[in-house]
Amino acid sequence: MPNMQMNKTPMPEQDPNVRNRNFKEVSLGYTAEMAINEAQRCLHCKNPQCVTACPVSIRIPEFIAKVAEGDFLAAYEIVTSTNALPALSGRVCPQERQCESKCVRGVKGEPVAIGRLERFVADWYLENVGKMPEKPASNGIKVAVVGSGPSGLTCASELAKKGYEVSIFEALHTAGGVLVYGIPEFRLPKALVANEIKKLEALGVRVMTNMVIGKVLSIDELFELGFRAIFIGSGAGLPMFMHIEGEALKGVLSANEYLTRINLMKAYTRSSDTPVIVSNAVAVVGGGNVAMDAARSAKRLGAEHVYIVYRRSEKEMPARLEEQHHAKEEGIEFLTLTNPVQILDDGAGRVGAMRCIRMELGEPDASGRRSPIAIPNSEFELPVDTVIMALGTSPNPLIRSTTPGLETNKKGCLIVNEENMTTRDGVYAGGDAVTGAATVILAMGAGRKAAEAIDARFRKQV
Ligand SMILES: Cc1cc2nc3c(=O)[nH]c(=O)nc-3n(C[C@H](O)[C@H](O)[C@H](O)COP(=O)(O)OP(=O)(O)OC[C@H]3O[C@@H](n4cnc5c(N)ncnc54)[C@H](O)[C@@H]3O)c2cc1C
Repeated sequence: MPNMQMNKTPMPEQDPNVRNRNFKEVSLGYTAEMAINEAQRCLHCKNPQCVTACPVSIRIPEFIAKVAEGDFLAAYEIVTSTNALPALSGRVCPQERQCESKCVRGVKGEPVAIGRLERFVADWYLENVGKMPEKPASNGIKVAVVGSGPSGLTCASELAKKGYEVSIFEALHTAGGVLVYGIPEFRLPKALVANEIKKLEALGVRVMTNMVIGKVLSIDELFELGFRAIFIGSGAGLPMFMHIEGEALKGVLSANEYLTRINLMKAYTRSSDTPVIVSNAVAVVGGGNVAMDAARSAKRLGAEHVYIVYRRSEKEMPARLEEQHHAKEEGIEFLTLTNPVQILDDGAGRVGAMRCIRMELGEPDASGRRSPIAIPNSEFELPVDTVIMALGTSPNPLIRSTTPGLETNKKGCLIVNEENMTTRDGVYAGGDAVTGAATVILAMGAGRKAAEAIDARFRKQV
């Protein structure tokens, strides 16, 4: 008999008033008993819609059945047969819009906590087995992967398992992409990402950091060096700004810069060579995951007031529900239906305040969301000393501009065919570099698809 408990088995978390002062992980994960209890809520539908809603088609009911039996190793093997990075996706996937949105238990009550179970299985393996993979025999074919975010890591892992000699070229000094420089430690511990990189190295993948492709080496030079296929997973790291008056003042930052300094350069430690300004009142402009991460980081750095300034209503916010909920619990103040119009100088070239205007919602726009319209004469001043812009990002044009024949669309995203090959023969791409800012799991799915296409290309030639 399934467990007919209406709600998800709760997952222990750090207390909001304690965690908003530290960078340790917020959610503490299930114990084995909690995981078994939650797994027993699954009804094992004959036609499981959760699987169709998963971008990497994890065999969800099968792995959950193994968790319910207490066979965590078998559950791990099922999950990792289609998902190379479950400890990461279990933590950051927007499950409420994917697998869990289709769970029949969600019709009356809460869906099965698929993400929490995925995370449990991955953490259990790391703690109890933690075996590194073995290096397969080489097939002698060299493949280059540009970028070490989830798309690049997945592509590299899939190819290395098949015997390809894979080298990753990463621009930053640490591998992991947004998983290390964007998503904060309190949501995704960096030790987990480092462990995934170690697994890749055990498979024989060479990970080279401080290698900006397009500057240190071009795509054509990689071919000259003997790489027979190249995967570009360079993400979408170029921040957008509002182009309003005052954006050049000291104290205005992009969320990317702010989070990179905190996550990658440990700017929150006293000994950091590149500290971030300690602010008293911070406005984070935007309503996505990036905005939530920046706001929650600012709070942890000691700001008394942190505002999310978003021009639509909470219903339209793109951030994961869990992140919005956690942010509110931690004391972040949500100013919805509000749009900045000017950033004011404090008289010394720094942010003194932000002038905003109230908004209302009109008809749906091209995105399908109701468009925000400014309400005349509703301007007001928000007293802040730091403004963080989290308005979205687009792909950096460096690789495109240094690679003849590589075409992009109007948004600067690489154009690929159904096999994820770009307009240059032998050059594949995936993740945010192709879709624009999206999700970890979509990037992983694209990395896997490109790896399959690269493998098929060389198998055809044998
Ligand atoms: C702060 C933040 C929070 C997010 N939260 C979530 C979340 O909760 N859930 C979710 O699903 N998604 C989230 N996302 C989105 C998700 O992280 C991305 O969609 C995903 O990381 C894209 O993966 P990728 O492999 O395409 O690129 P990235 O992760 O961006 O990795 C690209 C890598 O390529 C490197 N690179 C770029 N140019 C070059 C070059 N010329 N040469 C060599 N290397 C290069 C970059 O340094 C980077 O390491 C978040 C994004 C951000 C910024």
